[in-house]
Amino acid sequence: MVGAGYVGLVAAVCFAKKYDVICVDTDVAKIDMINNGKSPFFEPGLDAMLSEVHKTGKILATTDMDEALLDADFVFISVGTPSLSSGAIDLSFICSAAEGIGNALSKIDRFVVLVQRSTVVPTSTREVVQKLVERASGKTAGKDFGIAFVPEFLREGSAVDDFLNPDRIIIGTENQRTLKLLFQLYEDFYGNLTAEKIIGMSIESAELVKYASNAFIATKISFANEIARIAELIDGVDVVDVMRGVGLDHRVNPKYFNAGAGFGGSCFPKDIKALIHFARTHAFDPILIESVLERNNLQMIHIADLAEDALGMMNDKRITILGLSFKPGTSDMREAPSIKIISELIERGVGEIIACDPIAIPEARKILGERVTFIGNPKEALSGTDCAIIVTEWEIFRKLTPRDFIETMKTPIVIDARRIFPAEEFEKELTYIAVGRRQK
Ligand code: NAD
Repeated sequence: MVGAGYVGLVAAVCFAKKYDVICVDTDVAKIDMINNGKSPFFEPGLDAMLSEVHKTGKILATTDMDEALLDADFVFISVGTPSLSSGAIDLSFICSAAEGIGNALSKIDRFVVLVQRSTVVPTSTREVVQKLVERASGKTAGKDFGIAFVPEFLREGSAVDDFLNPDRIIIGTENQRTLKLLFQLYEDFYGNLTAEKIIGMSIESAELVKYASNAFIATKISFANEIARIAELIDGVDVVDVMRGVGLDHRVNPKYFNAGAGFGGSCFPKDIKALIHFARTHAFDPILIESVLERNNLQMIHIADLAEDALGMMNDKRITILGLSFKPGTSDMREAPSIKIISELIERGVGEIIACDPIAIPEARKILGERVTFIGNPKEALSGTDCAIIVTEWEIFRKLTPRDFIETMKTPIVIDARRIFPAEEFEKELTYIAVGRRQK
């Protein structure tokens, strides 16, 4: 397993329940932690499972690619592919991993299957990874080693469960021997995969499946946010009811179909930007997907507008932000809507921002620094402020009652950007402003 981050380590630990796995990473601290049976990052269930497989001796970690590949039958690449400022993906980690793998392959005489799992735009696996491995190893893909692209669909926060119960396994390869070996591996590992759940296709189709999936889910979110804006124009309409009514149609599916503060995280924004960049460099304007990003950005600005409309002049006002991470269950702040909303409010001259989150404060501090006062306890964070905005739907915030706001805040104005509170109950007792619902 080359790259032991979210994707690589989760796969490594799950596979190690059945097979011998060696992780390779350039980060020595990560390698040491894995070799001590400890997960280097928080992901529910991962630490316990790693400690279990570590005791059986079925998982090892090293920085030495040659050592890791010595007895390998399959090599998975799951190094990072971050965004460049142009929106394109940075392939430098992929390139150095491919060269290292190629050098190691030149020293072994066995048909190894190379599986690219990092998210890359179509043609990268064949044009970049395969070519670099061929050059460094002196071997030929298809004849001396197999190459495939198998996209990863796991979600941070439920990564172990997602890996163990996939909706589908997509195997992108044209090489029959590689296809057969990967089918055998996945069928053996999962035991009960039905034919519809495991499908083969070209490498490039599989690369595009990953981007198309993320673009589609993000489209659902932006669509819900656009309907929310329309709902806000009409008395008596609530977007929560509307999306539930639409989502129950089996052609639609209710998941990722709620209006809110917009999407963030390490995947949706990065992957959509990469897809747009890829299309534009091929002289095509993907207008639908571009508008998904634009609606997402506008939704975050809209949350700041709701606060400004409610408060009027902002320079003497204090606002509490409840929730900083991009979603509940993680401390991940990458592209979190809270960053954009807070920056908007600061730009508009707000007096003070008090930010509260159960676990993301250390990460958020690195990004927002001195501009914000951080308080971990929600009631303390609400004390004496003029407006509270729910930005991340953490369970502890759901437990807050109208009384909690009335008794602590200077003026109890609540902007529910995640629709976590019962609207009727809240609007009876305080100024309750919600996404997708006209204020009474
Ligand atoms: P990550 O940053 O958590 O992990 C990447 C790891 O690769 C790091 O530990 C890094 O030290 C290591 N690395 C970098 N260069 C290396 C090299 N040359 N050799 C060995 N190790 C090297 O990244 P991640 O979140 O696991 O994502 C990996 C890929 O999977 C990305 O392309 C991402 O888009 C994709 N993906 C991520 C998720 C997710 O939810 N995180 C989901 C699906 C797909």
